[in-house]
Amino acid sequence: MELEDLKNVAKNFIDERDWRQFQTAKELAIDISVEANELLELFQWMDGKELDKKLMKGEDNELLKKIKNETADVLFGCLAMADHLDFDLGKAFLSKLEALEKRYNKEEVKGKVVKIPEYKN
Ligand SMILES: [Mg+2]
Repeated sequence: MELEDLKNVAKNFIDERDWRQFQTAKELAIDISVEANELLELFQWMDGKELDKKLMKGEDNELLKKIKNETADVLFGCLAMADHLDFDLGKAFLSKLEALEKRYNKEEVKGKVVKIPEYKN
């Protein structure tokens, strides 16, 4: 399913419940942040590398299900924001990726963990 189709699914879900009246860009930004933190909470106090091994071996399907749910919640918020402000999320993503390509030159950063301030470009 295309991103624009998913945005329409989110739009219909919101409109069928008459929730648009409660939505502002600020509220949707808060929602995205809250859902991202619900995702993060699943990993709190866990060893990241050990957890990855378990998840990739299919040894913790209950946690994987929660991760999928919270990741989907984040996407829902992003789709709702794109719908609310009427922008193409796919285009925004590709535009951001293009900026990241310039900011993080692949020859310079390959295999390195680096943080280049946005203002440098
Ligand atoms: Mg959630």
